[in-house]
Amino acid sequence: MMLDVHNLHVRYGNVRALHGIDLQVERGEIVAILGANGAGKTTTLNAISGLVRPASGKIVFNGQSIHRLPAHRVVGLKIAQSPEGRRIFGTLTVQENLDLGAFTTNDPGQVKKNLEWIFSLFPRLAERRRQLAGTLSGGEQQMLAIGRALMADPVLLLLDEPSLGLAPVLVRQIFKTIREINEAGVTVVLVEQNARVALRLAHRGYVMELGKIVMSDSAASLLENPDVVRAYLGGAGM
Ligand code: ATP
Repeated sequence: MMLDVHNLHVRYGNVRALHGIDLQVERGEIVAILGANGAGKTTTLNAISGLVRPASGKIVFNGQSIHRLPAHRVVGLKIAQSPEGRRIFGTLTVQENLDLGAFTTNDPGQVKKNLEWIFSLFPRLAERRRQLAGTLSGGEQQMLAIGRALMADPVLLLLDEPSLGLAPVLVRQIFKTIREINEAGVTVVLVEQNARVALRLAHRGYVMELGKIVMSDSAASLLENPDVVRAYLGGAGM
């Protein structure tokens, strides 16, 4: 098992955001985490990547406990996150944003290889490498956020709402690229409100409500589960 999250609790002051999350990820998988606003999806990713400190519970990555490590050490273990809302640096160029993602990699040959791979996944970024990131379209900014995470050469990629605010055609394009990234050997945990596209891409999924996991199954079974259909797949298909 690559990632084992066990009985994880997170609090923000008096707000109990996670009440005992259990979640496992095998090497090579794409695992989707679904749920409404405020269910605790982002908090779960942030706990894995070291951005929030759990109140209790364990997170084990490739046999090593990581729940007490600071975020930069977690990136050093090759876990990279593409945050919700993209959070790229608008006043820096595309290239400079990508360079920032490579801070854990000392080997210039590896950095160059990563960069070439990212430009082959997202040719748009190559065309715009000297452009200020703030002038990119929403879809291009999302590509840049994923590209920046890939510069850390991750074995585990955490994606927070990659479809947020994008037109359907761009969502399809981004999800096709996430599949390519996974096929290249990167394990993916995907937080999404767009449950249908997420479950079509993922191997397995977890459903969160109010800081708890309420369901977990293969993506195919979740897509057919009447409770999931009613609560999360009611909208128009894509
Ligand atoms: P969204 O899709 O809106 O990000 P989510 O499922 O990712 O939702 P979280 O962002 O993890 O949910 O939030 C879980 C709970 O923790 C919510 O009740 C939220 O209001 C609360 N919360 C999140 N961040 C903070 C914070 N920095 N301070 C206080 N409460 C927070």
